[in-house]
Amino acid sequence: MNDETDTTARKISSIVIIVIIVALALSLSALYQAYDLFINEDPTMGLWLLIGFIGLALSTYMLLQTRSRMKRFTLKTPPITTTIICSKCGFKNVRNFERGDYILKKLDSCSKCKGTLMISAIYRKVDEKGKELKIFS
Ligand SMILES: [Zn+2]
Repeated sequence: MNDETDTTARKISSIVIIVIIVALALSLSALYQAYDLFINEDPTMGLWLLIGFIGLALSTYMLLQTRSRMKRFTLKTPPITTTIICSKCGFKNVRNFERGDYILKKLDSCSKCKGTLMISAIYRKVDEKGKELKIFS
């Protein structure tokens, strides 16, 4: 589910970036056109200058919007962690979540006492802001 939303977000942002690059190229060519007409003292130069500046402003705005949206996406998806515990000696091991992990799933025997290793918890790592909120509540 989360992988799917991530890929969609990435797809959308790459399309947006292509649109921004095209808009930037078009506005730069409009500005070049304006410069060309300025040398030839053509009165339509003002129109091209306007198109160029509006294009530049719009693409810059879009670029800033996409950047802030991408930042929010990376903040939203901290890594998922799996905690493994030995039922016999209490040996605890934390590793990244793997496909097929579920709570109370039995794994290989313990490397210390040959007891049964079991998944005790699966959770997302909480960032510093989350910890602060917990202290104050
Ligand atoms: Zn053990």
